[in-house]
Amino acid sequence: MIELSDIHKRFGDLEVLKGVSLRFAEGSVSALVGPSGGGKSTLLRCINLLETPSAGTVRIGDDALTFKQGEKVAWKNMQRLRRQTGMVFQSFQLFPHRTAIENITEGLITVRGWSKEQAKARAMELLQKVGLAHKADAWPATLSGGQQQRVAIARALAPSPRVLLCDEPTSALDPELAEEVVEVLANLAREGTTMVMATHDLRLASRIAQDVAFLDGGSIVEEGPASEVFNRPQRERTKRFLASLA
Ligand code: ADP
Ligand code: MG
Repeated sequence: MIELSDIHKRFGDLEVLKGVSLRFAEGSVSALVGPSGGGKSTLLRCINLLETPSAGTVRIGDDALTFKQGEKVAWKNMQRLRRQTGMVFQSFQLFPHRTAIENITEGLITVRGWSKEQAKARAMELLQKVGLAHKADAWPATLSGGQQQRVAIARALAPSPRVLLCDEPTSALDPELAEEVVEVLANLAREGTTMVMATHDLRLASRIAQDVAFLDGGSIVEEGPASEVFNRPQRERTKRFLASLA
């Protein structure tokens, strides 16, 4: 179980998250949708603490951290929570001077202290899962965008995080390449990977997410089962947003 309680995030005078509370069940896939600038990326970054919340509590499993205005939280505690998450970015962000397999083994070896052999075995297992075992020794620049994103997904999953966070995982890809990434994410969803995904792609969201939260202006406008929110939105704001995409 992942729980966000009353998360606030401020950048100077700008309050970007205005008290967001959400729960994500173990094994579930949740989509964060809403207009650009609504706070989706910031919320994901507050879950893995790439951004430090200004206030609120982030709980992942039994581990919780509470942030308060003007109080510092120990880096060690942030690191512990962060390690329970894996993140996939819109722009893949592979290390360009590492091969596909090295992109996956690097963090396992340097951050987690795995042996080279262990890390290689785990990386091959993940490359297999995303259908890229044959590209293990390829450089990122020689891979298609869809293949790069699949390596990035494998890298994020390698240390077995409790939750996979995906920020617009298909937005930088042509429809055909997006489809191969959706396929991989759909498989992970079927296997029970806990995922929270920010996306513009309602097709992706409705295909793999059970739960949807609609975020606008830093607040949750509406949340619930995907079938309800997409087919029978209750709020005017949600209706307008969905209509604008149709
Ligand atoms: P979304 O992902 O829904 O498009 P974001 O979380 O990226 O929304 O952005 C929400 C708001 O926060 C925007 O107004 C954006 O300009 C602002 N913002 C995001 N990151 C920063 C930052 N590091 N410094 C200042 N403002 C930021
Ligand atoms: Mg974003």
